[in-house]
Amino acid sequence: MAMQARLAGKRALITGGGAGLGAQMARRFHEEGAEVLVNDLRLETAEAVAKEVGGSALAADVSDSGAVREMFERVGREFGRLDVLVNNAGINKQGFMPNVTEADWDEIMDVNLKGPFLCSQEVFPIMEKQQSGRIINIASVSGLYGGPKTIHYAVSKAGLITMTQVFARYGAEHNIHVNAIAPGIIETDLTRDELRSGGGGVVVEMTLLKRPGQVEDVSSAAVFLASDSQNYMTGQTISPNGGSYFTR
Ligand code: NAD
Repeated sequence: MAMQARLAGKRALITGGGAGLGAQMARRFHEEGAEVLVNDLRLETAEAVAKEVGGSALAADVSDSGAVREMFERVGREFGRLDVLVNNAGINKQGFMPNVTEADWDEIMDVNLKGPFLCSQEVFPIMEKQQSGRIINIASVSGLYGGPKTIHYAVSKAGLITMTQVFARYGAEHNIHVNAIAPGIIETDLTRDELRSGGGGVVVEMTLLKRPGQVEDVSSAAVFLASDSQNYMTGQTISPNGGSYFTR
C-alpha cells in the first residue's frame, strides 16, 4: 500500500480491467488502498487481475444490457457500496473511412459508447443512494482532435466526452462527479501493432515529447480523479498525451 493511501476505504469497479490500461488502473487503485472489482469479457481474464490485487472478478460484456444489469445487481447484492466506476473497456479497429463496414461501426459504438452509457445508467441508483460517487470515462485524444483517421473510433470517443458532460449534469445534485481521461498513444496490446507499423510512428511524431505514453501515465490521472484530494472537478476531460497536436 502506498505511504499515503489516497483511495483507502473506497471500492472501485473497472471495466475491461483484465488487460492494458484497465489492469494497470486495478493495480494502482489497489496500491492506493482501494478494493477493486475487475470486469472483463471473459471470467479467466478478469480473475487473473482480480487475484493479483486481492479483488473480485465480474465477467460481462459491457455492450450487453442484460449482462450489465446482472453485473450491477450482483454488485448491489454482494457489495452494496460502490464509490468509483471506471468505464475503461474499449476496442479499436484500424481502417480508413471508405473501408469501415457497418458491422465495424456498430461494434465500436456498442462497446465504446453504449457500454459506458449502460454501466453509468446502472451505477447511478447505487451512487445516488450513497449521495456520492465518481465515474471516470476512458476516452481518447482521437475524440478531441477528430482523428487521426479511424472515424468510428474517434466518433465513439467524442461521444463519450459529451456523455461525460451530460452525466456530470445528472450527477451534480447527488455529489456524483463524472470526468473523462483522453489518453494519447499509450503502449498496450491495443496499440502494440499500431506502434510497430508506420501508423503509430506518425502519431508519436505528432507529440511534443516524441514518445508513446506508459500505462502509469493514465492510472495516475485516474487515481487523481477517484480520490478525495480534489472535490471540485466534474464534467471535465484531462488528457495525458505527450503534447499532441494532430495536424494531419
Ligand atoms: P486492451 O485491448 O489492452 O484492453 C482492453 C480490455 O477490455 C481487454 O481486457 C478486453 O478483453 C476488454 N474488453 C473489450 N471489450 C469488452 C467488452 N465488450 N466488455 C468488457 N470488457 C471488454 O486496451 P487498452 O489499450 O488497455 O485500452 C483501454 C481503454 O483505453 C479503451 O477504452 C481504449 O479505447 C482507451 N485508450 C487506449 C489508448 C492506448 O493508446 N492504449 C489511448 C487512448 C484511449
